[in-house]
Amino acid sequence: PAKPLFSEQLPAGLQTISNIIAVSSCKGGVGKSTIAVNLAYTLADMGARVGIFDADVYGPSLPTMVSPENRLLEMNAEKRTIIPTEYMGVKLVSFGFAGQGRAIMRGPMVSGVINQLLTTTEWGELDYLVIDMPPGTGDIQLTLCQIVPLTAAVIVTTPQKLSFIDVAKGVRMFSKLKVPCVAVVENMCHFDADGKRYYPFGRGSGSQVVQQFGIPHLFDLPIRPTLSASGDSGMPEVVADPQGEVSKIFQNLGVCV
Ligand code: ADP
Repeated sequence: PAKPLFSEQLPAGLQTISNIIAVSSCKGGVGKSTIAVNLAYTLADMGARVGIFDADVYGPSLPTMVSPENRLLEMNAEKRTIIPTEYMGVKLVSFGFAGQGRAIMRGPMVSGVINQLLTTTEWGELDYLVIDMPPGTGDIQLTLCQIVPLTAAVIVTTPQKLSFIDVAKGVRMFSKLKVPCVAVVENMCHFDADGKRYYPFGRGSGSQVVQQFGIPHLFDLPIRPTLSASGDSGMPEVVADPQGEVSKIFQNLGVCV
């Protein structure tokens, strides 16, 4: 891991974090949260100190995907800070752990809540903070990217042409903000049945993005019933099956970030 940033311009809560990785997608439902969570637990398994920030205030997934004993964030009333909850050594903050469920808020208010959750949390020393970004490239995402000095972004897509157009938007947003996109994950790219491989959403949009934008790494993540089952069970697949095929893909992704 790189040296801590310790920059004075940084919000206090982020000063002890070495690398902040955004996991982003332009659409909902493409597997962004699944990938953020499994990436985070892979990095932890590699020996890093890791936190996950679920920035999706409208539909927080983290409380479903992990099952910490303590499902509510604690406040330090004196310091006015938030203490993250923890599951298997990874620190976790999500609006879904704030005890208010899903939010009905307008954009600027959402940005305020995200900013507060992120910067007033006592993250402690972390090698990686993985941010599960809200889907899209609107004001909320832009504001978030401006508060946080991102080290790198990972873009998640499915192999449809439509999502290629959306991914291009995401890549452009990060490029304007001078954040390197280190990898594209093409999720749900295929499944195997009866000895044959099927490509239900077509092929090739990931490689098109990678070529067009010069992104160094492309990962194919197959459709795997165990991935969705583990997402619902509260134990990420890379924790449940550390030697499995999916864990190997995440280990390769972990090396890139
Ligand atoms: P997003 O964060 O982009 O909205 P999620 O990570 O919540 O997407 O995934 C949406 C749904 O798809 C979840 O139920 C998740 O378990 C499932 N899912 C994601 N990726 C895969 C995969 N490769 N194979 C099977 N199910 C998947």
